[in-house]
Amino acid sequence: MSTRDLAALDKQVLWHPFTQQQGWSEEEPLIVQRAAGCTLYDTDDNAYIDGISSLWCTVHGHAHPAIDAAVRDQLGRVAHSTMLGLTHAPAIELAARLVDISPPGLSRVFFSDNGSTAAEVALKMAFQYWRHRGETRRTGFICLRDGYHGDTIGSVSVGGIDLFHACFGPLLFNSWQAEPGDIEHMAALLAEHDAEVAAVILEPLVQGAAGILTHPDGYLRAVRELCDQHGVLLICDEVATGFGRTGTMFACEREDVVPDLMCVAKGLTGGYLPLAATLASERIYEAFLGEHEELKTFFHGHTYTGNPLACAAALATLDIFDTERTLDALQPKIALLAELLDEHVAPLPAVGEVRRRGFMVGIELTGFELAERMGHQVTLAARRRGAIVRPLGDVVVLMAPLSITADELRRLVTITADAIAEVAVPALA
Ligand SMILES: *Cc1c(COP(=O)(O)O)cnc(C)c1O
Repeated sequence: MSTRDLAALDKQVLWHPFTQQQGWSEEEPLIVQRAAGCTLYDTDDNAYIDGISSLWCTVHGHAHPAIDAAVRDQLGRVAHSTMLGLTHAPAIELAARLVDISPPGLSRVFFSDNGSTAAEVALKMAFQYWRHRGETRRTGFICLRDGYHGDTIGSVSVGGIDLFHACFGPLLFNSWQAEPGDIEHMAALLAEHDAEVAAVILEPLVQGAAGILTHPDGYLRAVRELCDQHGVLLICDEVATGFGRTGTMFACEREDVVPDLMCVAKGLTGGYLPLAATLASERIYEAFLGEHEELKTFFHGHTYTGNPLACAAALATLDIFDTERTLDALQPKIALLAELLDEHVAPLPAVGEVRRRGFMVGIELTGFELAERMGHQVTLAARRRGAIVRPLGDVVVLMAPLSITADELRRLVTITADAIAEVAVPALA
């Protein structure tokens, strides 16, 4: 099919996520045909740097030979076999690897398919844990304002982004929102609701979808201590921060925090296939043990849970962290990224703030009306120059694959700066 026909058909039959279709149908879609390393190619073979890791999940680049080979190899054995009542080697081996690399004490792995389900699973596990312990009043959750844990109803119930979540209010269970980074507020909420709280759920160190909102040093550690004082569980949603994004394998490590439950997804398969996991401590796991008729079973599971192809991709992704020493190689790139942002982006008049933690970057544009869609205009201008970025409102997000080279990183940041300079011209006051 020609590019034109594909574009026309897209507008006829597709409904894109997080997309105002009326605007979409007025623009020419970029149709991705193939990718290699950190570069995406469209149907006319134009090249673009993938500045957002295909929505924060490509870790080692596209078409990595080792991941390609692992998936092909698994394809020769079995593409899918259920985890309900059966098991298979890729899931077993991957669970063991995840336990190995996660904060000590997280000893059980429950697979699902995406970040939202990983969060749903954690919430339901925390809720049911307290039922089994006889503390049936512990049914509520404390989350963070501007938090994001996915788009299913449970994960939206602990979401705090009004733009996405307010509309669904009548469908949601109640939760209490703490001010991000404000430990006094968290302490006050825990003191007030103490005996009704099942768990605190948060994105450790960085709230991604909020626009790369970073927390002060020590906040996560302090939340862990408060949870311990109140006997409340801590759920860390590492869906965005996991697998090297902040500079360490997991963000929790930076403050020596071990959550009771940890959610991972996005980077888990290196951006190849949908897979997620919720890791739990042995204490939580043991509370679910009993005779069949005690009904302590965790009645939750998805058809494609622990899909073997996805597990094979994840195992290969984790191997590459060792063979390519990804995290060591990342440190100088983080330093370079910081320099490039300081030099090219921060001084621009339209840039209010540049927030960064490791390889997660949010460039906040200021002085624009919602209707101007300035984040989107910058995205289009960057695209014309050969880079894919995607905004969250007026925050331009950069989330490059960890495997990006220094030259590609320079190109990505200068293209972004040039795009902002071209279109983001604040109106004269
Ligand atoms: C993206 C994200 C999710 C949702 O993951 P999906 O795979 O899109 O369902 C959950 N939590 C965080 C922190 C995320 O960034």
